[in-house]
This record gives sequence, structure tokens and C-alpha cells, in this order.
Amino acid sequence: MSAETLVNTQAEFPPPSEGTRDRRYRLRAAAAKVGYGRVRRCGRKRVSLTVQIRNHDGVCSASGFETCGSIWSCPVCAAKISEVRRQEVRKAMLGCSEAGGAVYMMAFTAPHYRGQGLRGLKDRMGLAWRKMLSGAPWGRLRGDMGLIGYIKGLEVTHGIKNGWHPHFHILFFLEKPLTEQEREKFEWKLFNRWDQIVCEAGSDPCNFAVFKLEQAHTPEAAGDYVAKFGSDYEITHLHTKAAKGGGRSPWALLDLSAKGYQEAGKRFGEYSRAMFGARQLTWSKGLKDLYRVSDPSDEDVAETNHGDVVITLDGKEVDEVQRAGYRCFLAMLRAAETGGAVAVRAFLRDFGLGRRSDDLRAFRSQYYGETDNDDKGEFAGRAPASKRDMAVHGVH
Ligand SMILES: [Zn+2]
Repeated sequence: MSAETLVNTQAEFPPPSEGTRDRRYRLRAAAAKVGYGRVRRCGRKRVSLTVQIRNHDGVCSASGFETCGSIWSCPVCAAKISEVRRQEVRKAMLGCSEAGGAVYMMAFTAPHYRGQGLRGLKDRMGLAWRKMLSGAPWGRLRGDMGLIGYIKGLEVTHGIKNGWHPHFHILFFLEKPLTEQEREKFEWKLFNRWDQIVCEAGSDPCNFAVFKLEQAHTPEAAGDYVAKFGSDYEITHLHTKAAKGGGRSPWALLDLSAKGYQEAGKRFGEYSRAMFGARQLTWSKGLKDLYRVSDPSDEDVAETNHGDVVITLDGKEVDEVQRAGYRCFLAMLRAAETGGAVAVRAFLRDFGLGRRSDDLRAFRSQYYGETDNDDKGEFAGRAPASKRDMAVHGVH
């Protein structure tokens, strides 16, 4: 067996105990195959002569590779971007409460059915929101509510029964808290206006029961409400919602794709293409300035490297590790975390020795803590996903 196959075998199957970071890297490797745009090269294509491993609060990462900055398609970049966005939202909410204001949350959705394309549904939602904010009725409602501004978060899930489900999570920043009577009144008015617009566009009526205007009591709640996309919670709870019969996040589709479910891969590809370039978070005009929130782009956030340099390596040396699969690359980062530069050198020496002797078993058991039987885990010996499997997982 060659070194390549020893390390690469079934690299995308989850190791027996998979942490959140391992999962992000595994899913990114899957997105490189079925996703659209720069995610196909994220963390793979080297863009500088050297690679630096940095340590930020005990967690190491490597710079010198292309980063895609895609909140929608890349679980690694999405984590970085979401964390920054959540902090921005928290800062705005704190600013609002300090000035005596209050923040309210409400989700806006529209009826959708299996078989409808995601791009069309997403565009229709965007158009409906633009209509919502136009004309004299909105001006009156805004004045009555004491609306300072809003933040709109776009989220997409995929449901077993009804297909794609793009929806908005809105944070309304108000001048002062509402009484219960006012809250009920505005909940109804907001719903009513949205429902009217959706119906005028030819859709079925919305269900009032799922439209709730609720106060966000903490900055964390506000941040999580609109900017949880790609968060640790979403990545670690891939199947929770689907199990309850609700929609699953696109990461769950990507996970199924990595495990051999081709239809799930196609779905993720459709999603990745449809969402390409779309904004996940939109702040109403002037709101960022009001709360002194800076405005770096998703790409800039994803490319920013934090932490102290542990070691600078020759890029070609790291290419070998990178080509051996994401688990090998993570093992190098873990070596940097536990033993610094000395451990990284030892890792590279052992990796080189293993490659030359064409036997990486000892290397793998030392650095991955695994045996040959761990390669495929629960999927050992399993045939590619059948139609029945797909039905069980709700992929159609
Ligand atoms: Zn990326």
C-alpha cells in the first residue's frame, strides 16, 4: 500500500470520536467536492511560499492557504465569520439597551413546497421584504413602534416534507420596551402586512401561529438569533432538528454527502450555488454607525490570522501533509498545540519516515490514535447509500 492510500483511506468518514474542529475540516473537505465557488480551494491551495502555524488561546491554525470566506458553504470560514458577527450584534444590542431601548425578535417565513428551487424561493423572500419596507403603511408602523433600525439574518433549512425553507430572523431595535398590549398589537400588524405581501405575490396565506414577536433579553440571545449560522451548536447538532421532523441545516446535507449519499451532495450543490454571494446579515441603514460597529467583509474576517507564530514552515513541506488528508493536517496542528515548534518538527520527521518506508501505520496510531479498523467506523463494509437509506434520512 502506498503512503497516500494509508493516510487518505476514507478520509471523510468521521473518526470514532470526532470533535467540532475535526467535523468542520471533514465537512469542508466534502464541500470541496460538491460545493460551489472558492470553497473548493479553501485551505487546500497554497498562496504563499511559507506556511505559518499560529497559536491563539491554545488553538492552532495555519496561514498561507487560500481562504474562501463563504458563510454559506464553508464550515471552517462560517465559524470565524459567525463569531465576529455575533459580537457585532451583541455590541449593538448593548448600545440600544444602554440608551433605554429594547430589541425584539421575529421570524418571517412563507409557505413553500417540495420541488421548488431554492434560488426562486430566496429571491421571492427578498422581494417580499423590500415591499414590506416601502410605502406609507410601513412609515406609520415604524413610527408607531419607535423603530430605530433592524438586523435581518437569512437562514436556509431543508425539510423532509416541504423542501427548501429560506426564512428571515429579524431583530427590531426599538426606542423603548413595549407593553404586552403593544407587543401583541405590533406582532399582529407585522404579520398582517407580511401576509398581505406574500399573498399578493401569489403564495398561500401564512400561518399566524408561527409568527411571534418576542423580546431579546440578553445580547447573547440577540446575537445567536440572527448570526448563529455555522456556529458550534449547529455543527455539533447536525441531526437534532431533522430527527424531530423539522428542517435540517445544510451542514447536515453536507455530512450525508460525505458519507456517500449522492442526492444529499446534489442538494448541497444546489444550495451552495443558489446562496453564492447572498448576504447572511443585513443591517438597516445607519444602524452600524449609531452603535459604532465596524464593518469588515466576510472575506476579511476569514483571512484574519490571530495568535502568535509557533513555527514557520517551507510551504512545500506542508503541501505533503495537506495532500495526505485533513486528518493528517489536523494532527500537525494538534502537535503544535501540545508541544510547540519541537513537536511540529517531530511530527514532520515521523511523517517523512513513514512515507519513505511506505508504512504509515505506526505514524497513524501515534498521531491519530487509531487502528486500521477505525477507517470507516460505523460505515465499514457498507455499500453506497441506497434509495431506501435516502428515504430514511429524508433526502429526495
Ligand atoms: Zn472557507
